[in-house]
Amino acid sequence: MVALTLGMPGLRRAPATVDDRPESPALVDRHGRTARDLRISLTEKCSLRCTYCMPAEGLPAIARDRLLSPAEIARLVRIAVRDLGVQDVRFTGGEPLLRADLAEIVARSAAVAGGASLSLTTNGIGLDKRIDALVAAGLTRVNISLDTIDRDHFARLTRRDRLPAVLDGIRAAHAAGLTPVKINAVLLPETLEGAADLLAWSLATGSRLRFIEQMPLDADQTWQRDRLVDAQALLDELGRRFDLTPIGRHDPAAPAEEWAVSGHEIDGRPATVGIIASVTRPFCAACDRTRITAEGAVRSCLFSDAEVDLRALLRGDADDEQIADRWRAAMWAKPAGHGMERADFARPRTSMGAIGG
Ligand code: SAM
Ligand code: SF4
Repeated sequence: MVALTLGMPGLRRAPATVDDRPESPALVDRHGRTARDLRISLTEKCSLRCTYCMPAEGLPAIARDRLLSPAEIARLVRIAVRDLGVQDVRFTGGEPLLRADLAEIVARSAAVAGGASLSLTTNGIGLDKRIDALVAAGLTRVNISLDTIDRDHFARLTRRDRLPAVLDGIRAAHAAGLTPVKINAVLLPETLEGAADLLAWSLATGSRLRFIEQMPLDADQTWQRDRLVDAQALLDELGRRFDLTPIGRHDPAAPAEEWAVSGHEIDGRPATVGIIASVTRPFCAACDRTRITAEGAVRSCLFSDAEVDLRALLRGDADDEQIADRWRAAMWAKPAGHGMERADFARPRTSMGAIGG
């Protein structure tokens, strides 16, 4: 059998050293990147307690009046798309389906989003009950997180026996025509053995599967570099059952590298499986993300605890240009990369579920 290996990461030009921001309306940073992909966290609450993300007791509750309202979220979406050049908007959390006003958030955002896509990252629980309203409101895509299709294993990993509800959500996403339905699976020592089963299931249901290397963003802080299941270990495991051919990235800013799965099709096109090797093959040099926390702060990078508040401006008398400019200044300071390869790497204080993954 041919050994499956990863290619060389793309090279980027050296970072600029000047501190002055250029006259650009876009969200540029001092390392030559432009952010066009916006993630907005809607809540810290979640219906699961994935061990690589949340503590068993959940995250400390955020008071309701500290969360952005639908109108505030839509205003940020309008500024992002109209003034800052954002092209993709994704709602996340915590679990965005736990916001009772999610359809209103999507509808208000869709009304001001121009041509930008509006999508959701969700664990899928309850999606079947809400999907029609969300699609009617303007939702264009959905990513659903699922690490295993073994019910006992799912219950251990998420500390909740809710696999059937997740599968109902995935079925509903397909039935609503929100294709391609993408499935995100975090790679863990416990999930490696079932990875080929998950891929087989994804192919059978017409879902596009992407595996993600686990990052040190778990609230319990148990992540250890020497326990990491990396992309190469996954390729070795999948290669035992599937014939995979490397394709690369369909877009330089896309986090996932794609592999064709011979003999399979999804939606009439050759089937692929994606691998997001955030730890072993960081794509920071091409990162085009900007994040807004559930409390309305800009976060330029998952791994930087620096947050720049926009909520006070939204609730004060600032105009859109003042908000846009504070957002630009926050992104100008985006770090070059997560720095996990450095000996002095310090994990961020905030966990994935609290930032908005
Ligand atoms: N609750 C929703 C969900 O699970 O899809 C949205 C929020 S969740 C934080 C967003 C994504 O982050 C999920 O796909 C999840 O698997 C991923 N994630 C959470 N913790 C992670 C970690 N430590 N490393 C890598 N990905 C992680
Ligand atoms: Fe909840 Fe998503 Fe974190 Fe799992 S990954 S605990 S579903 S926020």
